[in-house]
Amino acid sequence: MKMENPTPIQWQFSQRAQKLESSVIREILKVTVRPEVISFAGGLPSPATFPVERMRAAFDSVLSREGKVALQYGPSDGYAPLREWIANSLSADGAKIVPEQVLMVSGSQQGLDLLAKVLIDEGSKVLVETPSYLGALQAFSVYQPEFVSVPTDEHGLLPDQVADIGQGARLLYALPNFQNPTGRTLPVERRVALVETCARLGLPLIEDDPYGALSYRGEPLPKMIGMNPNGVIYMGSFSKVLTPGIRLGYVVAPLPLVRKLEQAKQAADLHTAQLTQMVVHEVVKDGFLAEHIPTIRKLYADQCAAMQAALTEYFPSSVTWTKPEGGMFIWVTLPKHIDSMKLLDEAIAQNVAFVPGAPFYANAPQQNTLRLSFVTVPPEKIREGIAKLGKLIAAKI
Ligand code: PMP
Repeated sequence: MKMENPTPIQWQFSQRAQKLESSVIREILKVTVRPEVISFAGGLPSPATFPVERMRAAFDSVLSREGKVALQYGPSDGYAPLREWIANSLSADGAKIVPEQVLMVSGSQQGLDLLAKVLIDEGSKVLVETPSYLGALQAFSVYQPEFVSVPTDEHGLLPDQVADIGQGARLLYALPNFQNPTGRTLPVERRVALVETCARLGLPLIEDDPYGALSYRGEPLPKMIGMNPNGVIYMGSFSKVLTPGIRLGYVVAPLPLVRKLEQAKQAADLHTAQLTQMVVHEVVKDGFLAEHIPTIRKLYADQCAAMQAALTEYFPSSVTWTKPEGGMFIWVTLPKHIDSMKLLDEAIAQNVAFVPGAPFYANAPQQNTLRLSFVTVPPEKIREGIAKLGKLIAAKI
């Protein structure tokens, strides 16, 4: 039987929901699925790096060995052996983390939501970098904070600015390695200064680090959590070192906070899929990442070099861009009068896409910026796409 609605529903969304907006990137990605579009817009890792066979074998062995456990509900804080593995890997870097501090989440994006849920009230002061990760701004803004943008330069945020503006804030959200969107890396001295300043202010410092392992040259810089495990909240993810489709990340926090996050996690979705956590543990426990990650680093380093070369060749000299030493993104600054949102319309008409920079700013957006991702486009297409963009920009100078 099909029933008519005699009183049509007038959807009355909560004030919180009224704050929700679709991500600009997701809207752009809808256009870029057309095969003829050369897209530098996505934040997707390269599928060429996904260890499909290794994952299939792990699913097989977990299901045949412990299928009944893998398919059952599990604990809210996560699968204990994986939490232990994460605590041990972080401790090997010098942080001395215990498994009780690790909360497994359904992608670190969920970690951002849970942190906001337990730390932010309406009007709470929240410090973010200029610019910052759009997904974090979205996750936080649901809880209606007052965003305060920390000034940055070409090396990332300026710790000496935090002392003034950080008074009374609820948290500072930082991306020290190969930042999304700029590709910048925070130098060691600034990490130390930032950790010290936050400790002095009693300000929780969130270190979001999904790209840290993807350094092109040498080992990544020391993590801030290792400098002060009682004041830093570390967020990790398997999205960029294994695959994003498994939706698996983790938050490592001081015990009082992690217990509160666990309660929020329980209310949100009970727990992260037990099967996925067991499979990932099966994959990583014997050192697979140590052989796998160098293949990702190599691919991304080559693609990044291809884009740097194309930018140098085709972009006018009044345009500047970052030179990342890892990760997936390059940040471009155009002459002041060029609005990258308008440039995007023209670029899409020529089958090239990127993400305009404005949405990455919590306050005072700089319209003349944009983000390029180089990891999913082959080098010859990178050249073609950058050449087209270069022409469009040159026509405006
Ligand atoms: N933080 C940053 C900085 C990111 O770039 C991303 C993914 N684009 C995330 C968090 C979320 O990652 P995931 O939920 O896949 O772990």
